[in-house]
Amino acid sequence: MAGPVDGWRERARRFVATSVEPIADAIDRDDAMPASLRAAVADAGFLGVGLPPARGGGGGTTQDVAAVLEEFATSSAAVATLISVHLSVVAAPIAEHGTAAQHDRYLRPLAEGRALGAFALTEPGSGSDAGALTTRYAPDGDGFRLDGAKMFITNAGVADTILLFATRDPALGHRGISAFLVPRTAPGYSVARQLEKLGLRGSETTEITLDHVHLGPDARLGPEGAGLGIALGALAGGRVGIAACALGVARGAYEEMVRNARAEPTDWKRRCVAQSFTELAAAGALVASAAAAKDAGAPFVEAGSAAKLFASTVAVRIAQRGFEVGGRPAADAGSRAGRLLRDARVFPIVEGTTEIQELILGRSLVGPPMG
Ligand SMILES: Cc1cc2nc3c(=O)[nH]c(=O)nc-3n(C[C@H](O)[C@H](O)[C@H](O)COP(=O)(O)OP(=O)(O)OC[C@H]3O[C@@H](n4cnc5c(N)ncnc54)[C@H](O)[C@@H]3O)c2cc1C
Repeated sequence: MAGPVDGWRERARRFVATSVEPIADAIDRDDAMPASLRAAVADAGFLGVGLPPARGGGGGTTQDVAAVLEEFATSSAAVATLISVHLSVVAAPIAEHGTAAQHDRYLRPLAEGRALGAFALTEPGSGSDAGALTTRYAPDGDGFRLDGAKMFITNAGVADTILLFATRDPALGHRGISAFLVPRTAPGYSVARQLEKLGLRGSETTEITLDHVHLGPDARLGPEGAGLGIALGALAGGRVGIAACALGVARGAYEEMVRNARAEPTDWKRRCVAQSFTELAAAGALVASAAAAKDAGAPFVEAGSAAKLFASTVAVRIAQRGFEVGGRPAADAGSRAGRLLRDARVFPIVEGTTEIQELILGRSLVGPPMG
């Protein structure tokens, strides 16, 4: 059933104008998002968009989720990313693969905004090649024990539930990997360090360690050995959301560029605006068509990869032009144009780099490698 696209977009627009925009630059400057903003985002229902009302969610479609993420990202990529990770790669796979008990215990609090999610796949030694992860799990009593480390994990220091991937034995390859639901308060789970980043500075990104973390028997999400499939499926869906975040950053940069160009117009600035307008419209169309395909239950992996690849590429390009059109003031520490450029650069990396999107798309369009 189609959701209230404009309803969610309008709600996000109003919330962003009153609660995010006034502090968007400060979030970046301070390298931190205030807990009060996270709480306001949750109270306003944005942690439940697109999730089933029967499980505590706010309902709505992928198009609604994309609209909300785009609106947040026009002002703050950090806040948009917090919501995107929570919805697309934590709550959505729990909704898809969880048991009724896991829905009650984990999904409902996430969907109602009483809990925040994080997704922990990347490790110090594995990124694009996620199947090479080495965090181990072993049977422990009637449950499991986890040991290892995860790297670049968004929300991991403030999330309540971490969807985390570990292997029974790296020698088993992909078949050894299972998915687990880890409470942040589990003894042995700790944040090793907060990472200092060039962009997306208001979004916390952490390295975490797992030292004999004991989990109960209901902690595994999906069947044993199904973890990598769950992770890659979550990322395929998440790509539509990340593409929408990139689109929002591109729009924020475009709007800033138009303001600056109008203040002191030249033909070169007009051309920058014209090129950016065109790229922004094309990226918007790709995001919309990927979200619509997902909502229709049609194949969406190619459309999602194309949207992510293109929207993240043009976000950097438009932010770069916006920075140049901004002139000397854009080079000042703390400038809006500078932040948008630094933030945009994250999107060709996260949830599958540009090169990985090209591989996914190329294999899907041409066929897999021989042998
Ligand atoms: C701000 C931020 C937040 C993040 N949040 C999370 C999170 O919440 N959870 C999580 O699990 N991870 C997260 N990540 C990690 C992110 O998903 C990885 O950085 C990404 O998957 C790339 O992995 P890598 O950094 O190890 O780079 P690598 O995989 O080492 O890649 C390095 C370069 O080589 C290229 N490359 C790699 N393999 C190939 C290939 N086969 N063919 C062609 N080129 C290739 C890549 O495209 C890239 O340009 C985050 C990263 C950042 C920067």
